[in-house]
Amino acid sequence: MNRLYFDHNATSFLRTSLKTRLQDLLTQDFTNASSIHQQGQAARTLVEQARRRILMSLQGVGGTLTFTSGATESNNIVLQSLTQGDVLLTSTLEHPSIREVAHDLAARGVEVRWLEHNTRGELLLDRLASALEGVTLASFMAANNELGNINDIEAIGQACYQASVPLHVDAAQVWGRWPFAIPAGVTSVTLSAHKAGGPVGIGALWTAERDQYPSLIVGGHQERGRRAGTENILWIDLMSRLTDPPENQDDNWADIGEKRDALAAGLIARGGVRNGDTQHAMPNTLNCSFPGLDAEAIVMALDLEGISISTGSACTAGSVEVSKVIAALGLDDEQTKSALRWSLGPTITHADIDHALQIVDRVLARISPR
Ligand code: PMP
Repeated sequence: MNRLYFDHNATSFLRTSLKTRLQDLLTQDFTNASSIHQQGQAARTLVEQARRRILMSLQGVGGTLTFTSGATESNNIVLQSLTQGDVLLTSTLEHPSIREVAHDLAARGVEVRWLEHNTRGELLLDRLASALEGVTLASFMAANNELGNINDIEAIGQACYQASVPLHVDAAQVWGRWPFAIPAGVTSVTLSAHKAGGPVGIGALWTAERDQYPSLIVGGHQERGRRAGTENILWIDLMSRLTDPPENQDDNWADIGEKRDALAAGLIARGGVRNGDTQHAMPNTLNCSFPGLDAEAIVMALDLEGISISTGSACTAGSVEVSKVIAALGLDDEQTKSALRWSLGPTITHADIDHALQIVDRVLARISPR
């Protein structure tokens, strides 16, 4: 049986075009991009071409791109630069690689402020200007991995610019899937490859200035001293190919919304209640509760029937804890404990949605209320 995969916000499948590219690269011998001999220079060319391709995908903003092991590392480079006396403004809805680092920073004497949001997870931007007073770094995600909410980064960028506050944006769920231009006022951006059909374990940090943040990993001069460690050239090349136009339907994130909406309508017809800001959401993401039921029980029952979904961020899933993001919304207990995240990718078809809803019917008929 073909499994139905609804966990693309955790990791999506490697694009067909990248599988072909990887096969091609594996027929060649690449060496160390820092070696000065000709083979080293060939590797260096691959890295620098990839860097240019990704910078261009950010729509001509200039700046510097540093390759990292992924979004977690990129976010850490930015936040770990804060020290006692700094003031961070962020949100409790951020990914753990921001939220948990913020808690650690608070324990180390950094003042951390949390911008408020409503029960749909919309940031209360009318409070932003006053919250920004005295702030030395603001950090907000472009789109939420659990709810799908798209934040108004343009408005946040404008407010930060007016207040002269640097703004870091975690765009892990957006870049590579849909066009992403860096709005004015944004001073750094986190990118990741594996959410958009690239390999796991490669990402990047864009910064407006070259040496904006000290290197988190030291012990080598790679990336002009911004990130020590021999560059992962094959993964860097593959990541940069996410900027190529999609070659076929399996690579195309453009038309997912209709399928997500069909799934949403089907789940609501079966007693589901949607969570998050449904007006401004990534077209592939759906967070939905079945009040009175237990999310983990549904996830396990669906898994046995061939559907892969999760209750929240892969970094918190795997435990039976309620997602911190859902808990932070302030919904009632029944809705909080039954929230499931369905995240679609390009390989999902309309027939898959119909099939998934039939399976949901079977599972709901079987699962007893908590
Ligand atoms: N930020 C967001 C918004 C994410 O969704 C994720 C992945 N769940 C990360 C950061 C971490 O990404 P990576 O796996 O590349 O470290």
